Amino acid sequence: MTNVFQEGLQRLGLSGELEAAFLRYRQELLEWNTRFNLTAIKDPEEVMTKHFLDSLSLLAIYPQDEATLLDIGTGPGFPGLPLKMARPHWRVTLVEATNKKVTFLRHMVDVLELEHVEVIHGRAEELGQKPAYRSAFDLVTARAVAALPALLEYCAPYCRVGGAIILPKKGDLQDEMAQGKRAAAQVGAVLEADTVVDLPGINDGRRLLTWRQQKRCPEQYPRSGAAMAKRPLG
Ligand code: SAH
Repeated sequence: MTNVFQEGLQRLGLSGELEAAFLRYRQELLEWNTRFNLTAIKDPEEVMTKHFLDSLSLLAIYPQDEATLLDIGTGPGFPGLPLKMARPHWRVTLVEATNKKVTFLRHMVDVLELEHVEVIHGRAEELGQKPAYRSAFDLVTARAVAALPALLEYCAPYCRVGGAIILPKKGDLQDEMAQGKRAAAQVGAVLEADTVVDLPGINDGRRLLTWRQQKRCPEQYPRSGAAMAKRPLG
């Protein structure tokens, strides 16, 4: 397995030396997972591929050395923490609504001695109304958090004009995609690329949808969670 992870690192142009830190991350994740419900993926080999390599796959289309990243609904850190480990110059903000996951994230940032990682306990739709966070990030992502219209409403308010929103998705997206494109127009973004993820150990039809923020997201977004559920964009 380690070989599969090493092959993945190599394919992404990353140093094999990163593996030690990822093994430590996995050890803490699986240990904490026996007390808190952090991840449904418990197989050690799958953690390396479906969590770590899958998170790192964003680098295949966003390889920059410098960036400000916001990861919404990061859970135990995906994809934000692996990206920070691979790109030490990035400034990373992780937002998570569940307190026990936030506790784990802060622990992981300590253990891995990461700098310039801000862990925020809160909901995307609340933080998005704070001026300091609006149009503030080069790159915004969210994995496995919601359907496209809600994801775009969560992400776009934080993305600077000209910045990117990259959303990992899998499965048949036909209906969701049509609605997502209409939602994007409402929040000032447009679909730029739909990229199949081709990495060892990942063959479940995973794709990365890249949206470009073309203009500032209207101030009315994100709406309250209740309004989003009642009247989804798109
Ligand atoms: N991104 C991680 C976790 C996905 S599970 C991964 O891919 O493995 C979805 C996570 O999003 C949960 O931890 C949940 O608490 C969080 N979440 C859901 N809605 C949110 C919101 N509006 N704001 C912040 N976090 C949210």
